[in-house]
Amino acid sequence: MRYPYLLFDADNTLFNFDEANAYAFKTVCDAFSLPYSQELYACYKKHNRAAWDKFDRGLATKEQIVIERYVNFLDEIGSSLDPIECNRVQLEGLGNAVFLLPHALEVIETLFKTHRLFLVTNAVAPVQKSRLAKSPLAPYIEQAFISETAGASKPSRAYFEYVFAHIDGITKENCLVIGDSLATDMQGANNFSLPCCRYNPKGARNDKGLRIDHEITDLSELLEIV
Ligand SMILES: [Mg+2]
Repeated sequence: MRYPYLLFDADNTLFNFDEANAYAFKTVCDAFSLPYSQELYACYKKHNRAAWDKFDRGLATKEQIVIERYVNFLDEIGSSLDPIECNRVQLEGLGNAVFLLPHALEVIETLFKTHRLFLVTNAVAPVQKSRLAKSPLAPYIEQAFISETAGASKPSRAYFEYVFAHIDGITKENCLVIGDSLATDMQGANNFSLPCCRYNPKGARNDKGLRIDHEITDLSELLEIV
């Protein structure tokens, strides 16, 4: 066995975050009588993405950006709704939205028999805890390291130092970071000198010049690697 310790990113690696996000946005529209449409959702997504990019680059805290995305979205559509309330409903919806990516459950069930499985995720702690607890993956995940609880986030070295301090037996050679994001997962693995596997179902390019040890387009390919 090459990598007995597996560190999985959660959103868009095991969980279909895009689908969960759409579901949560619809709950906001329902709650506040906003007329849902593809255009409206695209507008929200634009502001959501910009906000998380800001967080990933360390320019704002999570508390700031989750509100800011709604401030900017409501501003663009000329609505006087309360962004704090909208965000509260969004997070509540997200916590209830359990959508897994193809083969996630089968792969996790299989790997559980031979490997130790962990989540490494930049997320809002109550949302991620709620989603994991409601998901069929829960029994197989030994521990979820949520950035908000860790006091640091991917791709910082401090985040991975926290993770390593909480897993007995893990080394920089016997673990594998598996994730979809170049900016957080692959960059984090590069920063802390950990082997990494990029989950890249859409075949996006590696435009950051990062070391990527393995690349997969379907989670089932992991079984051959680990
Ligand atoms: Mg991700």
